[in-house]
Amino acid sequence: MTARTCLDCSTTITRHGKSGCCRPCAARRTHADPAFRARLEAASRAAKRSPASRARASEAALRTEAERRGDPAWHAYKVASGRRLRAEYDASPEAQLRNSAMRAAAGRKISDTRHAWCPIEYRPAYRAIRDKDVPAAEARRMVEELILADRAREAARFAALPLLERQLARVAAGAKVVPTFKPQFAGPSYTLGGVAPEAM
Ligand SMILES: [Zn+2]
Repeated sequence: MTARTCLDCSTTITRHGKSGCCRPCAARRTHADPAFRARLEAASRAAKRSPASRARASEAALRTEAERRGDPAWHAYKVASGRRLRAEYDASPEAQLRNSAMRAAAGRKISDTRHAWCPIEYRPAYRAIRDKDVPAAEARRMVEELILADRAREAARFAALPLLERQLARVAAGAKVVPTFKPQFAGPSYTLGGVAPEAM
């Protein structure tokens, strides 16, 4: 059996391996293979998920906490690592999407509560007035006047319409058409001694 040298370094290898490398180099090659690393990581994750290993990890964490309670350096480390994890999470696209959706929903809710007095269709007008630095109370008074004026104008316009158009406008606004009431004579169809009841 002739001595060979490792394919990756100058170490002499005495035994024939499939890889043609010394053991450390063979291991390095194996670990450089992405498929191998993926299998290793999957196995490691699966092992960490087992109830026994989770229980062991949580016991160890509690023990560490108990041992280091009151150690300022440990406390500082915990605070810093908490902040780091939080920052990492906040920077993730998922968190940003979630946070902006939550902020938008909260904003809408606050706006709806604060502007409950203002019909939705007048909100743009209110915002336009507020954008001109008019104080909120003054802007509200202006919008309420605008609403009253619009309603008065609408009522006057409606009153000026011919009857049929008023009725059509009501139907267009959602009113239901019902058959008009027709009284029906419910009395007997015979007469008493030749005298109709209507004639008595
Ligand atoms: Zn080697």
